[in-house]
Amino acid sequence: MNKIKYIKHTSKNCNNIEKCLFCEISKGNISSNKVFDNNNIYAFLDINPQAPIHIIIVPKQHIDSLSIVSEEHIEILGMIQIYISKIAKQFDELKNGFRVVNNCGIYGGQTIYHLHYHLLGGKQLNWPPG
Ligand code: 5GP
Ligand code: ZN
Repeated sequence: MNKIKYIKHTSKNCNNIEKCLFCEISKGNISSNKVFDNNNIYAFLDINPQAPIHIIIVPKQHIDSLSIVSEEHIEILGMIQIYISKIAKQFDELKNGFRVVNNCGIYGGQTIYHLHYHLLGGKQLNWPPG
């Protein structure tokens, strides 16, 4: 039985007992289907895919959500976009296009409070979202 308790992680309650799922995945402490990995960014297949290709891209640095970013995050936010583009090029299924989604906060449908982007594609996606 896994005793780690996963919580709505914020920088205020960050400690060694209650761990953030995406911090643990990006450190390799919890297994995932890795798509991309460098010093700053980790990408992996979503466990519950909403499209034929559904990849989650996270900064290794813990950031709660897009609602708290500021100028100090310019470099990592820029890098994420560039690497999403590079990752998308690796998938033939994405050659006709793809969608990048950030769910932010309660109304945005965010469930994991470690900033992440969804890279979705492999079929014609509908618009507008629900
Ligand atoms: P959010 O709803 O916060 O925008 O996105 C969280 C995403 O993380 C969901 O699409 C969900 O399927 C995915 N997810 C949740 N737990 C895990 C996990 O343990 N492993 C992987 N690979 N994806 C997960
Ligand atoms: Zn985290």
